[in-house]
Amino acid sequence: MSLTELQIFIAFHPAIAAVCAGAIGACVGSFLNVCIHRLPKGQSIISPPSHCVCGQPIPFTLNVPLIGWLSLNGKARCCGASISPRYPVIELLTGILFALALLTLTPVKAAIACVFVSLLIILAGCDLNDMLVPDAPNFALVGTGLLLSIIAPSLHGETQSHIEIINRIQSAKAALIGIAVGTALIWWIRTIATAILKQEAMGEADIILCAGVGAFSGWQGALFCLFGGAIIGVLIKLPAVLALFKQKEERESVPFVPSMAAAATLWFFYGPQLIQGWQLWTQG
Ligand SMILES: [Zn+2]
Repeated sequence: MSLTELQIFIAFHPAIAAVCAGAIGACVGSFLNVCIHRLPKGQSIISPPSHCVCGQPIPFTLNVPLIGWLSLNGKARCCGASISPRYPVIELLTGILFALALLTLTPVKAAIACVFVSLLIILAGCDLNDMLVPDAPNFALVGTGLLLSIIAPSLHGETQSHIEIINRIQSAKAALIGIAVGTALIWWIRTIATAILKQEAMGEADIILCAGVGAFSGWQGALFCLFGGAIIGVLIKLPAVLALFKQKEERESVPFVPSMAAAATLWFFYGPQLIQGWQLWTQG
């Protein structure tokens, strides 16, 4: 099936395409769960195969994304230990994002979106779970972003030239500028915020993440990842922050990676619409 045929199929059968992409996404999500569980602990993500906390291997039929967890009612069959709802949530989220990518983006950009959101989900999941962002998926974000920019120049909208190599160079340039802006911007904000707050304001992981988003989405994406992420973070955390002030407790460090990842995803899927909306709003 050629790309055009695929596009025609999606246009005529969006529901079937979405279900297929969603099912693949849920299976990938199942693997992302393994990564989220094992990477911060420095364990291999390949072996041993999935097993319960009691050490029993999980049979294939119970490992089916979403359905496995639902059929077990969130409890392990072997020992009755409760299985975190994080597992089906990650599977569902990955499925929804894969389906959304296929329905809203071109096939090439949709495929890249699947790689992008998978890495972001691992990073956000690790941060939420262990408050620890492993380097491997973070550097993978920067590396794959740059590589995919060269392989598929349409990622940065570089399709104008008839000479393919020029498109690839332009696209790589956009990715490199994205990496540079992402790194520099967050480094300055981190330095200033650390000076004001008199404590470590942001982790190095945030810098690498912002650079990775720049590689996939250019400098505009890196900008939005940082400022959009801050707004999302404040909206989510506002009740928690207010409660903290009431109790006059120590300021807790807030995991920033999930809100940055959410903003980066929003930009990758709806960047042009966001720019349009902003222009309409500012022009009244
Ligand atoms: Zn068990």
